[in-house]
Amino acid sequence: MSEYVSAAELFGENVFNDKVMQEKLPKKVYKELHKTIDDGKELDPMIAEVVAGAMKEWAIEKGATHYTHWFQPLTGFTAEKHDAFITAPSKDGSVQMEFSGKELIKGEPDASSFPSGGLRATFEARGYTAWDCTSPAFVRQDEGGAILCIPTAFCSYTGEALDQKTPLLRSMEAIQTQTLRLLRLMGNTTSKKVKPSVGVEQEYFIVDREKYLKRKDLIFTGRTLFGAMPPKGQELDDHYFGVIRPRIASFMRDVNEELWKLGVSAKTQHNEVAPAQHELAPIYAECNVAADHNQIIMETLKRVAEEHGLQCLLHEKPFAGVNGSGKHNNWSLTTDDGINLLDPGKTPHENIQFLLILTCILRAVDRHADLLRESAADVGNDHRLGANEAPPAIISVFLGEQLEDVLAQLISTGEATHSIKGGTLHTGVKTLPDFAKDATDRNRTSPFAFTGNKFEFRMVGSRDSVAECNVVINTIVAEAFSDACDVLEAADDVQMAVHDLIKQYASEHQRIVFNGNGYSQEWVEEAERRGLPNIKSMVEAIPALVTDKAIALFGKFGVFTEAELRSRVEIQYEGYAKALNIEARAMIDIASKHIIPAVLRFNRNLSDTVNTMKEAGVEVHVPLEMLRQSSRLLAAAKTSLTKLEEVTDKAAKMQPGQEQANYYYEVVAKAMEELRVPVDQLEMIVDKEEWPMPSYGDLLFEV
Ligand code: ADP
Ligand code: MG
Repeated sequence: MSEYVSAAELFGENVFNDKVMQEKLPKKVYKELHKTIDDGKELDPMIAEVVAGAMKEWAIEKGATHYTHWFQPLTGFTAEKHDAFITAPSKDGSVQMEFSGKELIKGEPDASSFPSGGLRATFEARGYTAWDCTSPAFVRQDEGGAILCIPTAFCSYTGEALDQKTPLLRSMEAIQTQTLRLLRLMGNTTSKKVKPSVGVEQEYFIVDREKYLKRKDLIFTGRTLFGAMPPKGQELDDHYFGVIRPRIASFMRDVNEELWKLGVSAKTQHNEVAPAQHELAPIYAECNVAADHNQIIMETLKRVAEEHGLQCLLHEKPFAGVNGSGKHNNWSLTTDDGINLLDPGKTPHENIQFLLILTCILRAVDRHADLLRESAADVGNDHRLGANEAPPAIISVFLGEQLEDVLAQLISTGEATHSIKGGTLHTGVKTLPDFAKDATDRNRTSPFAFTGNKFEFRMVGSRDSVAECNVVINTIVAEAFSDACDVLEAADDVQMAVHDLIKQYASEHQRIVFNGNGYSQEWVEEAERRGLPNIKSMVEAIPALVTDKAIALFGKFGVFTEAELRSRVEIQYEGYAKALNIEARAMIDIASKHIIPAVLRFNRNLSDTVNTMKEAGVEVHVPLEMLRQSSRLLAAAKTSLTKLEEVTDKAAKMQPGQEQANYYYEVVAKAMEELRVPVDQLEMIVDKEEWPMPSYGDLLFEV
């Protein structure tokens, strides 16, 4: 056993957090900086200079030699360019360690190497990173040494957002403004700030790294492109919440320690449904910090896994036929005086403010279901959404029995007079206490579920940034609040108007509420009757970003300009096409260089066997039948391979854009599936020693 660690001691050790700032900054500077962090006041360059100096001293004490502006371009990953603190050598050959205020607040990475979706062409090649002082800087220590990481936003020369963070910060401003407006109308005069709180549950797979390195498909694409199902899948449900294996436990322990040092409050860990699948969740934080922390979590999982001879798979569907991975984005609204606006209290029917907020959210989700769906669209997520496991591709809201009943009362009589009580759960065992039961059971199949005092959006892919979905949630809810305020501000009797509005929204948007089983075929049909969109793929989801409705929405709240939206659409189509192209090429490569040769060897062995047996005068029926079967499958594989080569070449020559992405989706992806079928069947009959890569069984059960 290695030594005992105290989470309290480690926590935030490598973060330039408020405590450090209080210690290291002159009082006046600390106060001024807080005006920027808390109230969005523009940062004085003199203040930045002092902060940079203190940050540098602190980081050097932690062993840092370099700093980086850490940002989230639209590649889906974080990016960084490292600069050493050193100055040019002076005459005597010595160097100084330097870090100026200017270097802290502004960076200039080469924007041309990041996707801009035409913004670069239309505007300027330059891109700037700008310090987001609301997300604390941290020192990351790894084999490469220690680096001061400064969370930044990434914009073009003319201020267009080229990243995930900029729109997220804009959307947080929008929802704050509109929520405060609403709160004032409801008589709240004390809350000064409102922030979305977000807690992200992260699912991932852990496999043995040596085996991983023998799977070219995992290396190049993050998922297996071939692979027959193991004899034992997840049907026994023995993994979920099962005892964590020692090797994994030791990995998790290091992950937790690393995260705590970085100020990420890793809290919950457990096994997930599939073998080798796990989950990690931190305690919720302000939206932008939570999004940054989720990136840190993903990076840490990958890095620590490698140190343990393991590989972390963050892909949404690393194994066909096995449960995939996602993120649950838990979202609520918190005021600076500690009120959770999504807390219904014990008697929701009396909580008018809550009901107004709730019905506004229903309206927002119903109006912009397509945008929410789009925010979870991702190449890997296409293998999950609607594929009968994680949430269906149809957006609906789960409210639970209690709230649904309150809404039903409102709709039918215009008034809600009672709330269903939670009651007591009797365990029937004297020594166990009786629990006060929640008034609402859980529903695991809903994509947008009310879970007590927050909404849980469960569609996001495991690799994807949560920035996108929170931009959408923040903005659509801001719009609903703003519309409600417009009505209420014009009303003579606000009280009456609030009641009317709640009833109106509840009735108009009833169709988005669904408490049943979201995985069932009946729901698909029912949703269609209700007129709810069922958007099955990423390429079909993307256009939602540039409908008139979306352009008006994002424009009104200053979250995206039309040009920014159009650029994002282009980037997504291109990203989709590129990812599919890599997958198809990897498949072609593996099939022609590894699988077909292996099957040929297997067949030759079989033929030899047949001949030898014939010479010996024994019955050759069995090996001959095996040879026939494998030759048939080999021929089918070869035909599909040739077809895949043709369509991939054709796709690659097309102009980037919607048409190309569609072609990849409709033609190339199908050709890939067609090649996979005979190959997976071959895997079942070819000698295991001959098969050129570890099987699903090896990967999933031998960690
Ligand atoms: P589960 O959904 O597995 O039951 P929990 O209820 O423990 O998980 O919470 C999941 C995530 O939701 C955690 O990250 C937690 O911190 C976060 N969370 C809890 N309360 C809130 C809230 N009011 N707003 C946002 N996130 C929250
Ligand atoms: Mg959850």
